[in-house]
Amino acid sequence: MNFLEYAPAPESTAILNLREQYGLFIDGEFVDGRGEPFQTISPATEARIASISNANGADVSDAVAAARRAYDRTWSRMSGRDRGKYLFRIARLVQERARELAVAESLDNGKPIKESRDVDVPLVAAWFFYYAGWADKLDHAGLGANPRALGVAAQVIPWNFPLLMLAWKIAPALAAGNTVVLKPAETTPLTALIFADILQQADLPPGVVNIVTGAGDTGAALVAHEGVDKVAFTGSTAVGRAIAKQIAGTEKKVTLELGGKAANIVFDDAPIDQAIEGIVNGIFFNQGHVCCAGSRLLVQESIHDEVVDRLKARLSTLRLGDPLDKNTDIGAINSREQLDRIRELSDIGVAEGAERWSAPCEIPENGFWYAPTIFTGVQTSSRIARDEIFGPVLSVLTFRTPAEAVAKANNTPYGLSAGIWTDKGSRILAVADQLRAGVIWANTFNRFDPASPFGGYKESGYGREGGRHGLAAYLAPATGVDRAAAAAPKAKSATKGSKR
Ligand code: NAD
Repeated sequence: MNFLEYAPAPESTAILNLREQYGLFIDGEFVDGRGEPFQTISPATEARIASISNANGADVSDAVAAARRAYDRTWSRMSGRDRGKYLFRIARLVQERARELAVAESLDNGKPIKESRDVDVPLVAAWFFYYAGWADKLDHAGLGANPRALGVAAQVIPWNFPLLMLAWKIAPALAAGNTVVLKPAETTPLTALIFADILQQADLPPGVVNIVTGAGDTGAALVAHEGVDKVAFTGSTAVGRAIAKQIAGTEKKVTLELGGKAANIVFDDAPIDQAIEGIVNGIFFNQGHVCCAGSRLLVQESIHDEVVDRLKARLSTLRLGDPLDKNTDIGAINSREQLDRIRELSDIGVAEGAERWSAPCEIPENGFWYAPTIFTGVQTSSRIARDEIFGPVLSVLTFRTPAEAVAKANNTPYGLSAGIWTDKGSRILAVADQLRAGVIWANTFNRFDPASPFGGYKESGYGREGGRHGLAAYLAPATGVDRAAAAAPKAKSATKGSKR
């Protein structure tokens, strides 16, 4: 018997007030979808949580029409100051209902409660607070005086950070004066629907935010809808590419936040204890279901064996299991489909000659699980060094010189993020300067802040979310007429105040 075993510390689900069945959220009301409803399940137990409406093309049209009405009649006419008040109210309600949201997120997604409680939900509130502050300061967004909203934004998000991705999409769109139709991922619709309840509680005018649930065909109908002015998509590169083709030649503005295969580079002068924690956080946080995960470890050859030994020792202490247990480090894989993909790519890794090591841990009988895994002896040409596995699997490669580290790090079709671990500030700056990645962390990994722009190069997509850049993605410069008004003598307009 291991006397250092932790006693179970499950978070109670009593705080949840779940419905049997959830409708679509259109024009401020929950309505039944016309498609065949589907079930959302807990990936940790495979138990059913609730029945979810499925939006067909007609439902999507209703949602877009509601968003257009709200844009024309209320939201685009409201002052930025007043829009900001709604966003502040939403942020505060998220904080008030934080525990409920965290439990629902862990239940539906499978992520450990300590992550949903300490990372996801606090960041959701932070995103709304941050963009609430921008709503009456759009003149400083970098687009000149009186920038204008784009209109109706179609937003499609993935399952790895369901509520956080919703916040990344909705907060800047509303601050900039757009209205929204959002489609959550089919395996994780629950927190978006609880969020709809928060919108009712906040008294947000009907139609400003609409939420349509369904699978890829619902997303495709939304993106293709002619009433949409802006498409914001986060998800796989394959779907992002399909969307780019679908809307090419239209007037729709687009931002795509896609996949990644980040290099986490560890030099031999790095603080090893911190680097080990950073490597673990980089790839095993959220079961590796992270677009910017440090899934390729590039370690300097001289410290390879030491780093790998210490990593194995550290991974052997991680606890895998019930996502609602406060001691859990590794939760459930979000779906059977994703588990199959992780298994398939891992088997390819073995077939291609890499050596697989998995942490010794008990795998629960039901649900979808994958033990934290490290591959050593990985070639740069191997599939596990090139493809996004999107699971708790780390591929370890080596380098000898900084130039080789940079060349290997950039040898990927993606370009979302990277990490650098070294004692030397000058080396951090020199290496970061040469990496083709949108976000680069130094002596840390997977840190997020609403004020900091996030996005990729190459097949990781285009456009930025977060910060002023994320706001500008929902704005256009003032038209000629507006510009003339902005340039006119100030006296009158100053007393009237700006619309935004
Ligand atoms: P996915 O592309 O399969 O699905 C994403 C969303 O798109 C879902 O809501 C899905 O229903 C919808 N969808 C599917 N087909 C569609 C279509 N033809 N038209 C419109 N919508 C469609 O991705 P996923 O498996 O849910 O998410 C994992 C991927 O997301 C990974 O590649 C990950 O790297 C990426 N991701 C990127 C970021 C980022 O900021 N760059 C953040 C999180 C996740």
